[in-house]
Amino acid sequence: MTKITQYIKEAKKTLFSFEILPPLKGESIQSIFSAIEPLMEFNPPFIDVTYHREEYVYKLRENGLLEKRTIRKRPGTVGICAAIMNRFKVDAVPHIICGGFTKEETENALIDLSFLGIENVLVLRGDPIKSEGVFVPEPDGHRYSTELLQQVVNLNKGVYLDEEMKKPIPTEFCIGVAGYPEKHFEAPSMRFDLQKLKHKVDMGADYVVTQMFYDNQKYIDYVRRCRQEGINVPIIPGLKPLTSKKQLVALPRAFFIDLPDDLVDAVEKCKDDAAVKQVGIEWCIQQSKELMEFGVPVLHYYTMSKSDATKKIATALF
Ligand code: FAD
Repeated sequence: MTKITQYIKEAKKTLFSFEILPPLKGESIQSIFSAIEPLMEFNPPFIDVTYHREEYVYKLRENGLLEKRTIRKRPGTVGICAAIMNRFKVDAVPHIICGGFTKEETENALIDLSFLGIENVLVLRGDPIKSEGVFVPEPDGHRYSTELLQQVVNLNKGVYLDEEMKKPIPTEFCIGVAGYPEKHFEAPSMRFDLQKLKHKVDMGADYVVTQMFYDNQKYIDYVRRCRQEGINVPIIPGLKPLTSKKQLVALPRAFFIDLPDDLVDAVEKCKDDAAVKQVGIEWCIQQSKELMEFGVPVLHYYTMSKSDATKKIATALF
């Protein structure tokens, strides 16, 4: 297995990669294989697998009281990474998050990943639990991605939580982190957010993957400001083709991004979601072409585990 920075270094042209979600609990791994198979002809060197933390659901009991239950709707990131690597002989990149993990659990998960031969991880804080709204770390967990990053950097130096271990083996993770061309929603300013990103890179992050954006100028300005801050690692743009009219509201709400007026106008004119999907695909192809010309190392697509739109985009480009 290979580090993402190595793939980028050796690439002669823009690389194609994508992200999938673990299946909903109760669905088979075949649903993921079916989403990946049509995209393999475009030779992705790596596939990202998201992590979804627990949620709280409330069930009404016969006595009229509410029972609080904790569930994970999409478990299985480590297993899915193993299945993908085994089946497709491609690098799987698990997303690892602070939320819901103690430091000890994180260490054990990282050990599992390194046993599997996984060489890349995307280190994130994670979103708050849906019903909570504000991110709350575990009592012995990490508050920011920087703290989790420090743990991975330490493991890469052979520094485990138990300082008394004799000759522990260092891990060899290549570490990705998240970047926000339109600012992370909690950051008081873009400069603040960039300083935090610079801190991540100075600590040892090897590359950045961006939040989705629909206006390339936002990405280009972001890269320029990152370079001014001294952030010199690869900044991989993340793109998500628009596929339904309701996303006009859902995406800005969930991801704190703006949609360009031309795109909004085009989608509003569509009679149904099939027409929206076509608009979304054409927009994404155009975005991808411009980004290729700009010289991005990789075009990374958020597929939501549905391959048809991404396949049409990749067919036009790769
Ligand atoms: P952080 O880097 O911790 O930043 C969070 C906020 O705190 C920012 O505003 C930052 O400016 C600020 N900050 C950072 N460090 C410090 C510090 N030391 N002191 C004070 N402030 C600080 N979520 C999931 O749950 N699962 C996933 O699989 C997942 N995949 C993602 C993939 C990508 C490419 C992206 C862009 C996001 C993904 N997310 C995922 C969402 C992500 O977890 C959320 O955006 C989360 O709110 C922030 O994560 P982060 O790693 O950017 O956090």
